[in-house]
Amino acid sequence: MFIDGQWLRCDKTFNVTNPATGELIDQVADGDASHATRAIEAAQSAFDSWSRTTAHQRSAILYRAWQLMLEQKEELAALMTCEQGKPLKAANNEVQYAADFLLWFAEEAKRTYGETIPSARSDQRFIVQHQAVGVVAAITPWNYPISMLTRKLAPALAAGCTVVLKPAEATPLCAIAVFKILQEAGLPKGVANLVTTSEPAPIGKVFCENPLVRKLTFTGSTAVGKMLSRDAAMQLKRVSMELGGHAPFIAFEDADPVHAAKGASLVKFLNTGQACICPNRIFVHKNILPVFLETLTARIEKMRVGNGATDGVAIGPLVDEAALQKVDKQVNDARDKGATVLCGGQRLVQGELDRGYFYAPTVLSNVDSSMLIYKQETFGPVAPVITFDDSDDIIAMANDTHYGLAAYVYTKDISRAFRAVEQLQFGIIGVNDINPTSAAAPFGGMKESGLGREGAREGLMEYMETKLAGFSV
Ligand code: NAP
Repeated sequence: MFIDGQWLRCDKTFNVTNPATGELIDQVADGDASHATRAIEAAQSAFDSWSRTTAHQRSAILYRAWQLMLEQKEELAALMTCEQGKPLKAANNEVQYAADFLLWFAEEAKRTYGETIPSARSDQRFIVQHQAVGVVAAITPWNYPISMLTRKLAPALAAGCTVVLKPAEATPLCAIAVFKILQEAGLPKGVANLVTTSEPAPIGKVFCENPLVRKLTFTGSTAVGKMLSRDAAMQLKRVSMELGGHAPFIAFEDADPVHAAKGASLVKFLNTGQACICPNRIFVHKNILPVFLETLTARIEKMRVGNGATDGVAIGPLVDEAALQKVDKQVNDARDKGATVLCGGQRLVQGELDRGYFYAPTVLSNVDSSMLIYKQETFGPVAPVITFDDSDDIIAMANDTHYGLAAYVYTKDISRAFRAVEQLQFGIIGVNDINPTSAAAPFGGMKESGLGREGAREGLMEYMETKLAGFSV
């Protein structure tokens, strides 16, 4: 753990294993509530001086961290593949995405402009300015174990906040690597603190109950996000919630079915399907269904599954046994209720694959609303295809979920694309595009997919209070 500028060991540790091989990679300090409290107190002590540094000073440290992260890109990617399982190429892309947040907020730190507002009184002047909210508590998931950290740390530090971060139990080594970079970049002691643990609930409780924490930022499941939001509300702490998704992917009858199927194959199987923006309901118009399914299945059958460190592997392991069982349950449920398994459909155990949590990339057709997969987030490598023939109903069907994170639309009709963007109740929409994300663009969900936005100008404002001063002159 990293508390008040010191790396701490603990008598109690927990194991970090490689999900592709089951091998032990390392052991990490197993922190408890007392460590979280110490870290919050360190962050509080550091807040005064850090929040009074100039935006230019904070920018310079983030800029240095960006440089260091890029210099260490290959080592960080290799560590991520070993700890989290994604193929090396995807891990490299994630490190780049993570570094993008450091650069973006190094620049944005200098642009927290206020404003002056004309008053109705001739003897009055209004000035609005933005100030750091205070100590931030952050909780991050395992699926993007570096970029989900910088997406919170960079804006919080740019704003002048101090931070205590708890990473996921499965990926503490990536978090440690990020904090080493921040330390090397010259971040003063106590400004960013890291508490690793195998028992998240007591730490979450301290984050919600300690009055020194003014903001809680969380990325993870909707169930945990709701619980933390409820507890944080007891002190009316500010919260940002980046939660689960159940993205619709709509290929209209005028879409190019080959292009759409290529897009679906890439975004659905991103990170072995373990991304919050992965499509979970692929709606395809019946007129283009045969070509779409043929293209999708052919591409999926070619995807090589294995250890992400091996050349040519496109699909790594799932995170753990529970994830694998959840995927298998959804596939079996769909099959029992009439879905057709066009490829995949089972756990992979041949050769060395039996040491990890591998599931065959799967395409299901004839999926309908009676099936679990139609409602539940899968978080695995399964593409469920639903046929539709009435384009007037499809937006309502896509919106029929309590999630509202990402959605995708494939069409050549610009009017239809505009209407879809306006009517879909999702925070991020790709039109003939499977990667509508960037450090420069606001990322976040509607409905039960979350509150607030990360990245972009909005991402910085999540860590700032708006203060009004009225002057009588
Ligand atoms: P999770 O179980 O909610 O865990 C996320 C984080 O919360 C981990 O650090 C976890 O610690 C911690 N946690 C679990 N229970 C807690 C508690 N009672 N108190 C405090 N912290 C607690 O979610 P996950 O399965 O790791 O991540 C997958 C989910 O994240 C999916 O639903 C996905 O859609 C969502 N996600 C959303 C976004 C987004 O930007 N919207 C991005 C990525 C992922 P442990 O690891 O120790 O359990």
